[in-house]
Order: sequence, then C-alpha cells, then structure tokens
Amino acid sequence: MSSKVYFTDMRATQKLNLIDKVGKLFTESGLKDIISPGDLVAIKLHFGEKGNTGFIRPQFIRRIVEEVKNAGGKPFLTDANTLYAGSRSNAVDHLKTAIENGFAYAVVDAPLVIADGLSGKDYINVPVKLKHCSDVKIGSAVMLADVIIAVTHFKGHEATGFGGAIKNVGMGCGSRAGKQVMHSDMLPRVKESKCKACARCSQWCPAGAITVGELKMAVIDEKICLGCGECTITCPHGAISVNWKNNMQYGLQEKMVEYTAGVLSNKSGKYGFLTFLNNITPDCDCFSFSDAPVVRDIGILASKDIVALDQACVELVNKERTLPGSQLEGKGGEGDIFGALHPNIDWRRQLEYAEEVGLGTRDYELIKIKT
Ligand code: SF4
Ligand code: SF4
Repeated sequence: MSSKVYFTDMRATQKLNLIDKVGKLFTESGLKDIISPGDLVAIKLHFGEKGNTGFIRPQFIRRIVEEVKNAGGKPFLTDANTLYAGSRSNAVDHLKTAIENGFAYAVVDAPLVIADGLSGKDYINVPVKLKHCSDVKIGSAVMLADVIIAVTHFKGHEATGFGGAIKNVGMGCGSRAGKQVMHSDMLPRVKESKCKACARCSQWCPAGAITVGELKMAVIDEKICLGCGECTITCPHGAISVNWKNNMQYGLQEKMVEYTAGVLSNKSGKYGFLTFLNNITPDCDCFSFSDAPVVRDIGILASKDIVALDQACVELVNKERTLPGSQLEGKGGEGDIFGALHPNIDWRRQLEYAEEVGLGTRDYELIKIKT
C-alpha cells in the first residue's frame, strides 16, 4: 500500500505567500492532528554551520511553531551536537551559532534545546536489536518529547549521497557517541599528488589524527581517526576522499536508518516530516559554506511516512535539469543528480534498508495541495 506525500510548489502570490503555504501544508498533510494539547513537541532542525547559508529560513520555522501552538502543543527547536570540531560540537557553541543564523527566540517564538546536552553526553540508550546496533544513543530531549516533527532541508551529502529526513532524524538526533558509531566504517584517504601540505585539515580534525610533517603532505592516523568526514570537505584542494573500511559503504546509511528506528520507537505514530526542496546544494549544511544549488527550487513536501517522503524528494530532484553556474554545469547528471555529485555512494541503500526494517514504504502517492 502506498503512503501519502503532500506537496506544494514554490510559486507565491499576493493572496498566498510561501509562509502561508507551509501552514496550509502542515494542516492538510495531517501533521497537526498528531499533536494533543500539552504535548512537548520537538521540532528537529539543522541550524546550519557558521558560514553556511543553505539551511531553512527561520521565518518558515516560526510558522510551524505557530501551527504547533494552535494545536495545543508546546514546541521547542532541537538538534544534537556534531562529532566534528565545527561551530556546533557543544551546546554553548551550538546555541550561539543557531542564534547567529537567525534562530533567536524573538524570531522563531520557541526555545532552543540541544538534544544531547552541554557536551553530547546527555543521551538515552534505546534498544532496537537490528543488524548493526542492538541499541542506539539518542539525544534525551528527542526521546523525552511526546511528538517529533522533523523539518528537513534536502540536499546532497558527501557520505550518504543525499541528506533527507532519514538523515535529519537518524544522524541528527544521534548523540556525539552515537554519531561516532554511525561513522565508524568511514576512512578518509589523502591523495599525495593533490595535497599542498597547507595543514588546514589538521586544524579542523576533532581527533588530532592528521599531521603534516617532513613528508610535506597530510598523514592520517587510522587508529585515531573517528571517521567524521570533516577533513574531506575542509581540504580546499580536494585531496581527501572518503573510503570505506572492509567495503562497508552501506554501513553508515544502514546505521543511520537504525538510529531513525530508535528515535521513532517510542512515539506511537506521533511523528511527522516536512521537507524543503529548495537551495539544493551539493553537500550538507554541516559545512561552513554552501555552494550554488544544482537544480531549481522545487517545492515543500510533508508526510507521516519518512521513507515515502525521502523517496518522493529524491525522485523529484532527479527529474530536474542541472543549473548553469553550479558544480554540475556541463557534467550531465540528469536522471541521477546525487549519483553525479557523489559517484562513490549508492544513495539508494538508505531507502531500501529503511523499508526493510519497517520504517515506511518507497511506494507513495504525491498529492498536490489546493492553493
Ligand atoms: S582524519 Fe578522521 S577524525 Fe580527522 S577530520 Fe578526517 S575523518 Fe574526521
Ligand atoms: S587540507 Fe588538503 S592540501 Fe591541505 S594539508 Fe590537508 S590534505 Fe593537504
């Protein structure tokens, strides 16, 4: 049986602007109905790294907050700390970055709660008993909330092909220790011919695993490396690429799905997903920059089925033509945009595995809401 995915395009008029369309989508997709008066509602977001500009505009989030309050819920905005040493690896830096990116209380009308606490140690071990993980380490605030609404910016991702709702929920709600478990199959490699020995990667590495010494190139200590992937995008010369230990290229995607199963396990259907298909950048909002979008802005989607939603999003993007002035200009990619952006990654695995473990179905009905 197919799941319903609701859609609105990016057109706006004087009668109905995009912020009002988000409100309409929230109601018509039934997300409002999962909230009961008094529920603590976690609105799971990515606040964006310092310097990034691809994340969802706070004005849209304010409208979602309003809708949650109208339904009687008590919303808070949340994300868990990052594994890498950027501007969101502890709650102090994370909150500062979120506020600098526009998510101040005065704008979004809701408090910000960092899901795994001050230093990432505030998490709950949630039993899942799946292929990779017997239990998963999820930020407490997410598990203790009555409802989770994941609001996702859909884009490319250097380690999972694309980053959608499954990534936002599974990776995003994992505590720092959980993120380390998910990344443990990833191993970066330095290409000697491209390395300029600038040492930028070693300054960003959270584990101190990279040295630039007499060899005049970066050397990664595999015993210390956490697999966070930060160096692969930090290198300005493209000298570091992702490799997978023991050919475990699917490991990260599958663990991310298992973490998603953990997050949703105690919510008894009180979860919903809303995804923005705009500013579709080649890489994640975890980076301190956002490259030009690779396809046009497509629309905003909502569903109670996380798998159907991600499947619909990836198919909508893959139907698009690539934009001039983007990373894919002149390189093709139509038909498989994310494969063209990240040729080492088979992004299909996260969707297949999510369906296998019962998180939802890839079979969906796309319903355009009346505007
Ligand atoms: S060397 Fe390992 S720990 Fe350091 S930034 Fe790269 S992936 Fe992360
Ligand atoms: S950032 Fe790139 S070029 Fe600079 S030392 Fe590291 S691998 Fe080499």
